[in-house]
Amino acid sequence: MRNTMSLLKDLQEIDQEISSIEGTRKGYRDELNTFETDASRVQEMLDQLNDEVALLQQSEAELQQGLLKERDNVTRVEARLPEIQTQKEYVAVLKEIDIAKKANKDVEEQMQAKQQEVAVLEEDLQEKNDELAAIQEKSEARGAELQKLLVESEAVLLKRTQTRESVAAELPVSLLRKYHTLFKRRGGLALALASNGACLGCHMQLPPQQYNRLLKVAEIQTCPHCNRILYVDDGK
Ligand SMILES: [Zn+2]
Repeated sequence: MRNTMSLLKDLQEIDQEISSIEGTRKGYRDELNTFETDASRVQEMLDQLNDEVALLQQSEAELQQGLLKERDNVTRVEARLPEIQTQKEYVAVLKEIDIAKKANKDVEEQMQAKQQEVAVLEEDLQEKNDELAAIQEKSEARGAELQKLLVESEAVLLKRTQTRESVAAELPVSLLRKYHTLFKRRGGLALALASNGACLGCHMQLPPQQYNRLLKVAEIQTCPHCNRILYVDDGK
């Protein structure tokens, strides 16, 4: 029975180590995911900015097209001026040219406004590009480190798991199942030391009879309060 208890203690120690390795590995994976999340967040902003720039440039191009056409019209109308016979018609055409030129000026101003907007967005784009490059650089350096740590810890994990299996194989299946349930439910502490009449897992007093029996008879007993498997200090 001492043997069983010592196997259980070994098992708990290995299981605690395995949990800790798994926790560390989760940390590595979370860190790797953070890089991906950050990069895709910035990439999303970049895509959005690029879309906005493309839209502005398209509307600027449309304005430009309209402007060129309107300038052609003005040139054509101006060419007609020397042929005009009447003063009235002359004044009317001049007025037409004047209106067209003013309209063109408006369009030019609109185009300038668009260009300014594009310039502002391009600054943002540059900033986000730099941010993305920084994330990628960091993720490459730290990412390689993390991948290495993951591979290394996986090897350790595999070894510990093999040891665990060989220890577990020596224990009765029902006890193993009980231990396993407790380990999960009791935060990685399935076993509890009984000392001075109390369970040190939950710090409750044990019935005196049970405690005495525990000291004298080597058998598997559980705490009536927290259900942990009790052991006494055997001086080892
Ligand atoms: Zn207890």
